[in-house]
Amino acid sequence: MPHRNPTQTDLLPPAPDGRVRVMLTLPFAGPLDYLLPQHLAEARPGDIVTVPLGRRTETGVIWDAAPNLPPEFRPPPPKEVPTSRLKPVAARLDLPPLPAQLRQFVDWVAAYTLSPPGMVLAMALRANALAALPKPSTGYSPAPTLPADLRLTPARQKVLDIAGNNPPLPAAELARRAGVGAAVIRGLAQAGALRAVEITPPPPFATPDPAHCPPTLGGNQAEVATELRTRVDEDSFSITLLEGVTGSGKTEIYMEAIAACLEAGRQALVLLPEIALSAQWTGRFARRFGAEPALWHSDLGARLRRVTWRSVADGTARVVVGARSALFLPFSQLGLIIVDEEHETAFKQEDGVTYHARDMAVVRARMSKAPIVLVSATPSLESLANVGAGRYRHLKLNARHGNATMPVVQTLDMRADPPERGLFLSPVLTGAINEAVGRGEQAMLFLNRRGYAPLTLCRTCGHRMQCPNCTAWLVEHRARHILTCHHCGYDEPIPQTCPKCADADSLTPIGPGVERITEEARATFPDARILVMASDTLSGPAATAAAVERIARREVDLVIGTQIVAKGWHFPHLTLVGIVDADLGLGGGDLRASERTVQLLHQVAGRAGRAEAPGRVLLQSYVPDHPVMQALVSGDFGSFMEQEAEQRRPGFWPPYGRLAALIVSAETPDAAELTARALGQNAPRLDGVQVLGPAPAPLAILRGRHRHRLLLRARRNIAVQPIMREWLSRVKPERGARIDVDIDPVSF
Ligand code: ADP
Ligand code: ZN
Repeated sequence: MPHRNPTQTDLLPPAPDGRVRVMLTLPFAGPLDYLLPQHLAEARPGDIVTVPLGRRTETGVIWDAAPNLPPEFRPPPPKEVPTSRLKPVAARLDLPPLPAQLRQFVDWVAAYTLSPPGMVLAMALRANALAALPKPSTGYSPAPTLPADLRLTPARQKVLDIAGNNPPLPAAELARRAGVGAAVIRGLAQAGALRAVEITPPPPFATPDPAHCPPTLGGNQAEVATELRTRVDEDSFSITLLEGVTGSGKTEIYMEAIAACLEAGRQALVLLPEIALSAQWTGRFARRFGAEPALWHSDLGARLRRVTWRSVADGTARVVVGARSALFLPFSQLGLIIVDEEHETAFKQEDGVTYHARDMAVVRARMSKAPIVLVSATPSLESLANVGAGRYRHLKLNARHGNATMPVVQTLDMRADPPERGLFLSPVLTGAINEAVGRGEQAMLFLNRRGYAPLTLCRTCGHRMQCPNCTAWLVEHRARHILTCHHCGYDEPIPQTCPKCADADSLTPIGPGVERITEEARATFPDARILVMASDTLSGPAATAAAVERIARREVDLVIGTQIVAKGWHFPHLTLVGIVDADLGLGGGDLRASERTVQLLHQVAGRAGRAEAPGRVLLQSYVPDHPVMQALVSGDFGSFMEQEAEQRRPGFWPPYGRLAALIVSAETPDAAELTARALGQNAPRLDGVQVLGPAPAPLAILRGRHRHRLLLRARRNIAVQPIMREWLSRVKPERGARIDVDIDPVSF
């Protein structure tokens, strides 16, 4: 297979002495130098090779002579190793090369996030994407004319009949279907009665047809779709924020942009915040385009991963839908990126390389000279600020599609209308559920908390059951008879006596989780068919899809769920949504808490009501006058976000300034504290830059590690990477301590 791609022709050939840089998928500061042996003289940047490293053989990529980065991002140049000491590249693998754009992207993400580039490359070269594809298999067909001397037993006749009536089948399959042993097949092949043929597998991904089933657009949909198509046809970098309330047809419209991209013969990438959503998305895509998209996420099986990786590289996978890691696929003709639910914090990867997939998607689009569309009903303040500054275009769908209206949102003042003692649902809410279910409609209760109760307290001595590894309470999961930590996974049986005062039967669950709400709902609505949707009760995307199906088939009266129900599901018969605790996300002192609560609750509220049945949303709150509740009631998110902006602007909080966090962690409190203090003492002193902390991190102990945090805040026109790099170079962590960098942390 010719694996050259045109973007590489402009790259420099290897240096005259055959010295090449090879990036390994290891946490080094940059690529290492090797020699290209004569028989590999044709190798070029992007080629995937194996090289010796110590006694091992490692896989890597021939890298470019110099990273193509703005000066402030450029890491320090590597030490030059004399040619005489270099080892030769061992072999070149028969794989499509990593496109230049992707190499450049890897360098950029590494420099921006201050991560070792090899770790970023590892995301692009998931090891099992590279393993050899299985050899084409062999099948058997009857020879056109049977040998004259063939001895035909009944078994042989049966095999020939089956082989004659089917496409070529592998020997084992043919034997199984005919109910004969493998020797019969071998005998027929040797006698020349069966011929071996190579089975060509069908292309793994069918080509989606943009004209398969286009929608009829209504309202201002056509206008918005035309705008998006124009962006795609321009075939150049642009950023568009597509805003519209839930149900306004955002998905429908960005599929039109995908259609334009397919018509132009380019590839499209769609990022979803949650892979559980992909089943419903894929079905919808298939109805629109008559073919399935390629799927990419971390749970993909090894074989599908290999096939998909290659199909993206050779361009046969035209549309990829995936989680954030899909950004690192080797697209050869990327023509459009869509980021659906762009406000979702799930786009931020918190472990390993800490990066925000939405922001990196913008970078990837710029490098690919492709348009990107950010999609949301409740855009992030970042994106709105970029619209305000003229950096992003803004398109708005102004109403729900068809005759559907937005649900009516009301607050329930829990101070004035409290639930009965020991219960969590107020009489108004239970009354509304009874009415809706009585009319044959569906209702939903939302509580963003798994388990039975978030806290177990001893009524005698006041002891709180706490995780031994984290500064967190243990959450009771009654069905599983355990207390568990939602941060580290620690669990223990629910104790019978208080571990502190040894009093029996004094431990009491405090506050509700969905399990407890479900118990209450079963007692309150004994005849209702109840379905619980929580990430720990649904085992994966298939189970989630099945639950959504049951709701759509009206096999359920009342849905009780955690944030998994907040996603873009379409529930045509659901008319009532009750938010059990609308105040839940507001505590904790995070500057972004209000923004996040509005986004989450609006998303949940959006599940209520469609054209046939208007929706109603009830918010149980102890602070019904809070701006978050007011915004949800009025639906005026624009004004709410302006208020948010006013709170962040003066202090240069993001998005009006830049923020970077250093998290120091160590198994001993001393190592953590000393390292954090050293960072504090060496903090940069620069105009427009301020360092806050060190202070105990939001989770002061996590998985047994003590944690401190420092925040660096800078004016927007200051690049924080060189400052951070210089700062880190001046502090050596204490033994056992680690410093993690988080550029643009999502909570602050
Ligand atoms: P959003 O992504 O903004 O929540 P969707 O694109 O999911 O909105 O649209 C909401 C519902 O309305 C979906 O069932 C969708 O199929 C339907 N819909 C939206 N626009 C159209 C249209 N032009 N023609 C037919 N159905 C539409
Ligand atoms: Zn824990």
